[in-house]
Amino acid sequence: MKRNKKLILISHCILNQNSVVKPLARAKGAFPIIKSFIDEGVGIIQLPCPEFKFLGPNRKPMSKEEYDTPQYRELCRNLFLPILEDIKKYIENGYELQTIIGINQSPTCSITGKRGVFMDEIFKILEKENIHIDSLEIPTDYTEDSDPTSLW
Ligand code: SF4
Repeated sequence: MKRNKKLILISHCILNQNSVVKPLARAKGAFPIIKSFIDEGVGIIQLPCPEFKFLGPNRKPMSKEEYDTPQYRELCRNLFLPILEDIKKYIENGYELQTIIGINQSPTCSITGKRGVFMDEIFKILEKENIHIDSLEIPTDYTEDSDPTSLW
């Protein structure tokens, strides 16, 4: 059996830069950095993009404070719950959820520093479910031309 039962969770735009605020796109499509995980044989679960769901592809750049409303937090929770159901099924069946990869300084998907709204809700839910997971972030200066070996 080829399946190695290792999984990572990644912010949507790592695989699809079409979802980011227009002037902030840093690659034509997917970030090449993700190839290293493909080469390792890791399964990739792509999180949804809450900002795209909320305001679409022509939204303006906004701060965490501007996004941080009860309505947006509820959207974030509701977007994550189906993913949580899948994660629980994987874990119950012996799969390993290794890492979650966010986007540093995103108002929604940052993990360190000022945590983004979506990651805030995700980590609260994972903690409540007693699911522990390592984390990584795409740095602010990463682009599709960056040296992938210098990232982590
Ligand atoms: S950082 Fe999060 S909210 Fe922003 S574009 Fe990427 S997936 Fe969407």
